[in-house]
Amino acid sequence: MFRRLTSFDEAKRVINEKLKLPVLGVEEVPLLEAYNRVLGEKVVSTLDIPPFNRSIVDGYAVKAEDTFGAEENQPAKLAVRGVVSVGEPPEVKVGKGESAEIVTGAPIPEGADAVVMVEDTDRDGDELRVFRAVTRDGNIMKQGTDIKKGETALEAGRVLGSSEIGVLAALGLTMVKVFKVPVVAVLSTGAEVTEPGKELPAGKIYDINAYSLSTAVRKSGGKPVYLGVVPDDEVALRNALERALASADVVMTSGGVSVGPHDLTPQIVNSLGEPGVLLSGIAVKPGKPTTVALVGKKPVFSMPGHPTSALLLFHLLARPVIQRMAGRPTTEAKTVKAVAAARMFSAKGRRTFVMVTLKQNKRNGFVAEPVATGASGAITTLAKADGYLEIPANHQFVDAGEEVVVSLLKDTLVS
Ligand code: AMP
Ligand code: MG
Repeated sequence: MFRRLTSFDEAKRVINEKLKLPVLGVEEVPLLEAYNRVLGEKVVSTLDIPPFNRSIVDGYAVKAEDTFGAEENQPAKLAVRGVVSVGEPPEVKVGKGESAEIVTGAPIPEGADAVVMVEDTDRDGDELRVFRAVTRDGNIMKQGTDIKKGETALEAGRVLGSSEIGVLAALGLTMVKVFKVPVVAVLSTGAEVTEPGKELPAGKIYDINAYSLSTAVRKSGGKPVYLGVVPDDEVALRNALERALASADVVMTSGGVSVGPHDLTPQIVNSLGEPGVLLSGIAVKPGKPTTVALVGKKPVFSMPGHPTSALLLFHLLARPVIQRMAGRPTTEAKTVKAVAAARMFSAKGRRTFVMVTLKQNKRNGFVAEPVATGASGAITTLAKADGYLEIPANHQFVDAGEEVVVSLLKDTLVS
């Protein structure tokens, strides 16, 4: 059903157009569980932050003009009228020539318009000497200067990190509306693939892809659900895929997409519902057999069996789809320029992604060296690589010494 390869750019275009799925809706979660979730609606402040004018130092609340001209050898002399406690409305008022002792975070008492730092004063009973002038509003954080009542404190779509959670706490919120997390059913195929934790009979390998892909799903803002390993059997595979589609928003399989006699996935996926397979066979290396489908409103990504291919193609094609469904900004890999350490060949007619490590050269630039094992069958290829460079389909090779652009894997993608 496939083998007329779609170019990589065309594949990206089809995915952008056909898998532009809306976010899944909003749910409310406790603030402390909202870390790394995405704000589902804008949050407008119902109060001023801070809610009152407050001192940002320990010292004395004063009228600023009473300190004008004060210097080390010519202090201003003020009377201490009382104390302002933190967490209490002030009981003391500050008149001309007067002051009130105050601590950081306490409300500014009526009549005062500045605070002198305790370090700039000397006190003897109720007499205060001020050795440095303060300007009006000096050492005061005014009401509403952090966040104003009625102001949008955070926009919808903000990913909630520690500082955003702090903003929501400042507003007194305990629950927060966030976008629902897309559930991604992850299943592996192949008679040789064994779930970790089980004994490994001769001729079998442990399931790598379900684990690496699940982790990548999580990093993209999805919730992976591992549905186990399915043998290359038409009925079993169809049942597993139907179960996956019924329980998840996205389905992610690996293996069984090549042209071998056991590679059944594309045909079965295509029969599960409209519009069916959108892409099967992409002009890339590695990852050529990758198959992308849409069943109803649910994307189905069928990744190659080779672990490095599966994970790389996830990042290239599936990640932005999951990020969009999660309401997250889509992230592109950061890039750095480097010099190719060796000649690196492309696969004829296919955009080739070469895994490289980066080393600093003497002139503070980078040298990109292909990862020695290089084979897409090895999971360590990606684990060793700092990034990848791309050789266009119509280029034979990148030559040693040529400048290349390396997309970083560790920074934004894999880790
Ligand atoms: P396939 O596309 O199913 O022919 O698989 C290609 C290669 O990837 C074969 O060597 C498989 O054994 C291997 N492979 C397939 N699925 C997995 C998996 N989940 N974890 C590790 N290796 C796999
Ligand atoms: Mg297989």
